[in-house]
Amino acid sequence: MSDPTPLPQGSTIGILGGGQLGRMLALAAARLGMKTHIYCPDPDSPAFDVTPRRTVAAYDDEMALSEFAASVDVITYEFENVPAKTAAFLETLKPLRPGATALAIAQDRLAEKAFLTINRVPVAGFAAITDLDRLEAELDELGTPAVLKTTRLGYDGKGQRIVHNMEDAALAWELLSPKPLVLEAFVPFEREISVVVARSLAGDVAAFDPAENVHRDHILKTSTVPADISKKTARKAIDLAARIATALDYVGVLGVEFFVLEGGRLLVNEIAPRVHNSGHWTEAVAITDQFEQHIRAVAGWPLGDPTRLADVVMENLIGDEIAAIPLRLGESARPHAYGKSEARKGRKMGHVNRVTVKKRAK
Ligand code: AMP
Repeated sequence: MSDPTPLPQGSTIGILGGGQLGRMLALAAARLGMKTHIYCPDPDSPAFDVTPRRTVAAYDDEMALSEFAASVDVITYEFENVPAKTAAFLETLKPLRPGATALAIAQDRLAEKAFLTINRVPVAGFAAITDLDRLEAELDELGTPAVLKTTRLGYDGKGQRIVHNMEDAALAWELLSPKPLVLEAFVPFEREISVVVARSLAGDVAAFDPAENVHRDHILKTSTVPADISKKTARKAIDLAARIATALDYVGVLGVEFFVLEGGRLLVNEIAPRVHNSGHWTEAVAITDQFEQHIRAVAGWPLGDPTRLADVVMENLIGDEIAAIPLRLGESARPHAYGKSEARKGRKMGHVNRVTVKKRAK
């Protein structure tokens, strides 16, 4: 179902998932005169604070899903682990954007790598691992160190282990699930960047400038824009992200994470079929931010201008770092708190954008 008519103001956007990304999507939708209906099994979802309609129900509750679908004009999601069955079911009832095929590819590392390879997008050497014999053979082939990962449900470094020899690998095989796993060559990258790209229902593509990402304890800590890469590498990353969005026949915002190797060579690490943490800087310094861009795309509207107006560093506030709001931020900082009730260790509680305004000479 891809009705090309743009949704009028006052339409309702259904969002699966009630975390901070759903919350920021709902805020952007409200600014555009749209309503949101958020569906999430967790009654304590931060997005519920900012949406006029909510459903608290399981993702396999077909009765609740049907009622949800009947109440909205289009459905989107804020996380990639929406069960495939849920997506397929909803897609029979209302337009699902991005669609179930893009979701299925992005939620399975093996399907994703196969898809990228077919579309001539470079990725690290990889192999599907179905048993220990195969693991031994592929470890010989790819060399060590290597990274053994689950194919699904991995995030913030969960579901992966670096292995240096067969003994490590056998232990990692025992610990990681669900199977099969994927073995990846270790990439000696110089830096990590990401491109957040949007594609409209009409097929237009608009990308934000690449962000340079630094992780702490496997969780994104900062995204700095501009990234410390050449113009040529930035262009190449944007072209690859656009190629992926088009090949997926994608509608909405897509995050593409890259490793940058010596000499500016790029490998795609992974893609995320949603607004992306490394795109939070756009809310402070892009003409259109990633949340508005996603709402525009899923509503069938033309995309906005992604031009960046200033340099910026986005910093995630993790666990009790949220206490920096309101006192310890500094005047150039734009804080965004997610309204989560409990500041658990490792939990993303908010972020802050620190903007460098270039002062013009008088
Ligand atoms: P992922 O969950 O695949 O995004 O991986 C999380 C982080 O682990 C990445 O951002 C990298 O810092 C690191 N990592 C993942 N895969 C590799 C690899 N093949 N080689 C080197 N580092 C990796």
